Amino acid sequence: MNTKPVIIAVAITGSVPRKKDNPTLPVLPAEQIESTHAAYEAGATLVHIHVRNDDETPSSDPDRFAAVQAGVRKHCPGMIVQFSTGGRGRDPSARGLSLVHRPDMASLSTGSVNFPTIVYENHATLVTDLATRMKDFEIAPEIEIFDLSHIHGAKRLIDAGLMSAHPHVQFVMGVQNAMPADQHLLDILLKEMQRVIPGATWTAAGIGRHQSEVMGWALARGADAVRTGLEDNIRISKDRLANGNAELVSLAVEMIHQQGRRPAKPQEARHLLKLRAA
Ligand code: ZN
Repeated sequence: MNTKPVIIAVAITGSVPRKKDNPTLPVLPAEQIESTHAAYEAGATLVHIHVRNDDETPSSDPDRFAAVQAGVRKHCPGMIVQFSTGGRGRDPSARGLSLVHRPDMASLSTGSVNFPTIVYENHATLVTDLATRMKDFEIAPEIEIFDLSHIHGAKRLIDAGLMSAHPHVQFVMGVQNAMPADQHLLDILLKEMQRVIPGATWTAAGIGRHQSEVMGWALARGADAVRTGLEDNIRISKDRLANGNAELVSLAVEMIHQQGRRPAKPQEARHLLKLRAA
């Protein structure tokens, strides 16, 4: 039986411009720090961060990222800070600006894909640029897999010396027009990842109503981490979820215990992902 501790990643905000649908969604840096702290107290050890402008549109402002990181480092000792370099609503040339602040990790998409209303464009040149900046700043990437070819995109970066041979990989399932949430498909992706990047650690994210079922599939397959948070599940009813991100983390803790495992502590999480000490 697998008794390895499980990292709980919480994606607190995302980039969907819909705060009115969910008043618990943290948008301003002070709200984001408070929400992260509550999620940390509930058992989360990794926070995935997007920032917003004052009008709630997605922002690439490095100062905003720095403000949230400073608050998390102060209030959540050891928690892994991961900045998003994702593209929705952001100028491609600005997506890597926040990396100068050297978070522990940053998300990295290694290919393009259709999203609900846009093409999520990740030109090979942009992917190489972002990977190079992460290497220069000693930031560990989390590879976002929206399509099977993205596994091979990650392998090309490893072969080019731009990334370690043991990246952290996240399979994203249930995005409309991209990969469906399907157990059989997860098995295919996992098998291909283990063949092509045998040193990788992994997790899977299910979007919207798929959040908890994908988490269950990932835990059943021995995932190193699970992912939850309002970014992936912004429409969840506020009647069901008065405390937003922290409550989603508590649900993840329950599922982990049902599998006979336990949530990782911050230093364990860093060790599992081969990150520097806090
Ligand atoms: Zn994100």
